[in-house]
Amino acid sequence: MGEKPLKKLQVWKYQRRRLRLLIFLLRFPRLVYVLTRLLRFVMPGRETRSNSARRHSFSMIGGGLVRPADLKAMRYVYLDYLEYMDDLLYAEKGTWPVVWSEFNLSNEILRVLDVVMYVPESMAIMGHNMGTHTTVKIIEAAEREGLPTEFCSAGKAAIGAYLTHQAPKPDLLISSSHPCDSVVSSYQTLEYLTKAPLFSVDTPYWDDDGSVDYYADNLLELIGFLEDNTGLKVNWEDLAQVCDNINKTNALLQEYTEMARAVPSPCNLTCLLLGWQHSIAAHGTENGLKFAQMICENAKARLAKGKGFIKKQKIRVIWWDIPIGFHFLEPWLNRRFGAVTVADFMGRVNTSMIDLSSRETMIRDLARTHLNIAMARQLRGPAEFFTEELKRILEEYSGDCMIFTRHQGCKGGWAMGKLIRDVCQKADLPVLFLSTDSFDPRFASEQEIKREITGFFQNNGLA
Ligand code: SF4
Repeated sequence: MGEKPLKKLQVWKYQRRRLRLLIFLLRFPRLVYVLTRLLRFVMPGRETRSNSARRHSFSMIGGGLVRPADLKAMRYVYLDYLEYMDDLLYAEKGTWPVVWSEFNLSNEILRVLDVVMYVPESMAIMGHNMGTHTTVKIIEAAEREGLPTEFCSAGKAAIGAYLTHQAPKPDLLISSSHPCDSVVSSYQTLEYLTKAPLFSVDTPYWDDDGSVDYYADNLLELIGFLEDNTGLKVNWEDLAQVCDNINKTNALLQEYTEMARAVPSPCNLTCLLLGWQHSIAAHGTENGLKFAQMICENAKARLAKGKGFIKKQKIRVIWWDIPIGFHFLEPWLNRRFGAVTVADFMGRVNTSMIDLSSRETMIRDLARTHLNIAMARQLRGPAEFFTEELKRILEEYSGDCMIFTRHQGCKGGWAMGKLIRDVCQKADLPVLFLSTDSFDPRFASEQEIKREITGFFQNNGLA
């Protein structure tokens, strides 16, 4: 390749430096707001190797459209990210056991054990902050070892991160059989490569009480596996506290999700997706709760005044698939077309409460929340789990169009093409089926995707 190999954990060290600076600056959210407003005039429209990291990070903090009150809230999420990165970099010292936890497996149990948690797929999401080419390089490392192009790039980034020494050495791996075969097989590969013991929670296909009980039994087995292999004990009082935070956070984020039904929508996808990303790294923290409280209050204040997150909202987009991960498109959609994503597949929170009255109820309801997180909820069972939720959204969110990412790894999504098209046709809603890889721009570049969306809006009289 003629390129320098990445130094050990270089991606995380780089990101930690940048994150520290961002957290410092966000002590002054008004200043950051003004700076980002100005930056948008000089931010290049096209990605190059030298501007890729800057452009990506700029889009992820909202591209100059997020106001100071929401920026202030976002700082709480970044504080938890920093702790996550500190832990995984400190893990090298070997003080605590290191547990790798798959990104669809909610990790509150790990939060009450003295372990370092690392989410292997976080490389696919966060690696782009060091430039899209960095993540591609990591994905290519996995492909050189035999992972096929068609495999989910989140899984390839997870494996590539290990191969390129961008992940702390694991003592244990935990995963699940949801939401897809890519995840299952990527953990078999990681087990083979790392030689660390793997526990995979077996996910039921259905949603009935028996299925929930089955999953709850699996969670108890998972606790046994973690305790046996680390010599640590789950602190049930701490777990109740984490679950209490999860209840409060989810209730607020659910309210936020629902507020997006208003026209104009007072909500913004930058915050909602940040909430989802936070739940991957640090579900149930005090910081996560503060973030949810603040963005909810801010959106309520806008709603009370009849104000939208952006002033001129012309197109209401339903984005019913995973977002484009290598470049966050929402600021461009907002600015270029007055388009706002009012319902999205990943950020949308739609789950039940955890009953904290006993260990049994807590584990049973934790099982429910696990089965209800994004991707697991819609993709682990029959196609109706996906299409029925889509139908409800089409009824409730007054969308003008639907966009489906068609991430090349999501074979379930590809297979449902006809069903999705028919649901949208029945609702008389134009739908765009992109053809992308959410985390890998080699499949379709940012410019190609933007061209397709532009053409779609124009052809349907939306722009
Ligand atoms: S459901 Fe799709 S995006 Fe999620 S892990 Fe599987 S292939 Fe990747």
